[in-house]
Amino acid sequence: MRRKIVAGNWKMNGSKDLSEKLVGYVQAEAGSLDNGVEVVIIPPAIYIRDVLRQAEGAVSVGVQNVGQWQSGAYTGEISSEMAKDAGCDYVLVGHSERRQIFGETDELVAEKVALVVASGLTAIVCVGETLEERESGLAESVVASQVRLGLSAVSPGDWKNIVLAYEPVWAIGTGKTATAEDAQAMHASIRSVLKEMGAPAEEISLLYGGSVKADNAAALFSESDIDGGLIGGASLDAKEFISICRYFPASS
Ligand code: PEP
Repeated sequence: MRRKIVAGNWKMNGSKDLSEKLVGYVQAEAGSLDNGVEVVIIPPAIYIRDVLRQAEGAVSVGVQNVGQWQSGAYTGEISSEMAKDAGCDYVLVGHSERRQIFGETDELVAEKVALVVASGLTAIVCVGETLEERESGLAESVVASQVRLGLSAVSPGDWKNIVLAYEPVWAIGTGKTATAEDAQAMHASIRSVLKEMGAPAEEISLLYGGSVKADNAAALFSESDIDGGLIGGASLDAKEFISICRYFPASS
């Protein structure tokens, strides 16, 4: 049975005050979700302790990035072992902002994924095509290649610690969302790539991300291969974020 996950990526936003108010609200509401959704909050690393304290175990917590080393003279970096030590369960790997702004390659993504799963944490591995790639008819092949390369170092026992997030780059923070049908088609394609790789594809959760809001979540989450969402902007609004979590159908 696949995990149903709604994860909020705060990016470089937030404060102690937001951690207190937003997580307080989400923590209070998460208990009344009756659709089996796991709520994950992924704040800037400096607020992990505040979020964990406020969450009181009602939501899971993740970090937005880790370095490709476990310790050493790498000023400014944090490791997956540190994320685990701090109480996190999830690590985002290969978000398009990391790929585009910080030059992260599929090879680097593969190295980080290997370290994350070795730490016993779950990697949420982000993939997605640019607008140019989609308009050139390359979306499926670009995403398939990101999946194959980014997950190339996952060993058979570690697939349980892999979640994928399909986030078309042109939909992130733009207000444009893939239609539910297009997102479903890409998720089905990703699942078939996972199958070809010998992964237990039917057990791996595939999240959709890219301008998900309360008013489009229901359509996206009702698709058979969409197992949840990775939410950016809307996760900074407690009520909107919880509404998105509620849109997950109880039966799927
Ligand atoms: C994201 O940053 O992963 C994301 C999907 O952002 P937004 O929801 O704001 O498009």
